[in-house]
Amino acid sequence: MVQFKKEEQEKTDFRDRLATIDEKGSRVWVYAKKPKGKLTFWRNILGFALLIFFFTAPFIRIHGEPLLMLNFIKREIVLLGVRFWPQDFHLFFLAMISLMVFIILFTVTYGRLFCGWACPQTIFMELVFRRIEYWIEGDAYHQKQLAKMPWNKSKIFKKTIKHLVFYSIAFIVGNYFLMYIIGTEEWTKLVSESPSKHIAGLSGMIVFSGVFYFIFSWFREQVCTIVCPYGRLQGVLLDRNSIVISYDYKRGEPKGTFFKGEDREKAGKGSCINCTQCVQVCPTGIDIRNGTQLECINCACCIDACNAMMEATNQPKGLIRYASEKSITEGTKVKFNVRTFAYSAVLVILLGVIAFSIAGRKPIEATILRAPGMLFQEPEPGKLSNLYNIKLVNKTNADLPVELQVISPEGVINIIGNGINIKKQTVGESVFFLIVDKEKITSDKTPVRFGVYSNGKLIEEINSTFVGPNMP
Ligand code: SF4
Ligand code: SF4
Repeated sequence: MVQFKKEEQEKTDFRDRLATIDEKGSRVWVYAKKPKGKLTFWRNILGFALLIFFFTAPFIRIHGEPLLMLNFIKREIVLLGVRFWPQDFHLFFLAMISLMVFIILFTVTYGRLFCGWACPQTIFMELVFRRIEYWIEGDAYHQKQLAKMPWNKSKIFKKTIKHLVFYSIAFIVGNYFLMYIIGTEEWTKLVSESPSKHIAGLSGMIVFSGVFYFIFSWFREQVCTIVCPYGRLQGVLLDRNSIVISYDYKRGEPKGTFFKGEDREKAGKGSCINCTQCVQVCPTGIDIRNGTQLECINCACCIDACNAMMEATNQPKGLIRYASEKSITEGTKVKFNVRTFAYSAVLVILLGVIAFSIAGRKPIEATILRAPGMLFQEPEPGKLSNLYNIKLVNKTNADLPVELQVISPEGVINIIGNGINIKKQTVGESVFFLIVDKEKITSDKTPVRFGVYSNGKLIEEINSTFVGPNMP
């Protein structure tokens, strides 16, 4: 009975809490050993390429527009140099649905590959902040020693330098994030003009820097395991066919210490030599030999660490590898399932709809409405006129002269004031009279059709009505 209770306790203990929280609920700090190996090398290459992109993208211009700007406060969204207006909301809606389907499809198939290889949190943490920590405090072992040490001169010096460097980088990263929101022009004004003129921007800069410093100096892997909604979704998105970082328990168990020259098979041991290298390099502090876990960000550090041990002990590599649970259990190769193909089809259709909508997006959007509360006028005998308001959105990067014509019925347009000329990326409004021969008006609400032209080219046709006298 006592034995049963102990076993049951051990079983439940494993899933009782996160790997980084102890039985009292306190944080267990992760001292991850510096990873090295083939996958780490390629992950670093991709990570540095993405970092270069992150730091250069705000300065890239396409036809004078930023590559990416997400100013939700001012409702200014620019993607790949195309500025989106509130009128383009349907495109955003489609893009969001496509993104969600893409995330589901990708995760069902490849697990958290994005988290380990391309997520900004992982890239900044592993390629920037943790590297600085290694340079200043040394590898995991030295970091642990330093943490245990009393506060002497050396410790104070190292910790001060580390946190100063961390804050400086967080400040730079925070400023870059701000550039993605307000654009480089606004950001330049923010840093060059008096702070009193840019209280909101300055507050944003301070908040961003503080948040990044907090995340990378203290919160770290907790972002992936506690906060990130994508991480929390893993439980419902993964299935037995998903390709994740897997420990081949069939080959690895039972674990056993390695002795040179020993026949492991005869000794009844599996390939795992219980060296715990896979656990020591894990940035989220888990033991992948316990199976797929919520905390695993698929960074592949454990694959490299285990492969190195396999090589050192003359055993085949791949005891930990990218594989599905099904392929490990059945000893088969990874296969794509029906669900993956179904998601792919939906994704292709959605992407097609988005591409079609963006390609067919009008450079100018015009709205013509009769002036409210106004009836018809008789400017001269035999003629009737109606007053209209026109609103134009110029989504292009050029100032556009706009010409308005009436397509049907025949008539004359009199624009009040100067002609219509809308500056690039602005909204223009004007008022005009439509004058029509009385005999052309067949009812109290005659349909009219306007044509909006720019540089002689018809851009949009708009339907409206012309109010005339009541017909018998
Ligand atoms: S278990 Fe392996 S892949 Fe998962 S987070 Fe830890 S080291 Fe990375
Ligand atoms: S690194 Fe490989 S051999 Fe060592 S404990 Fe992990 S799974 Fe076992």
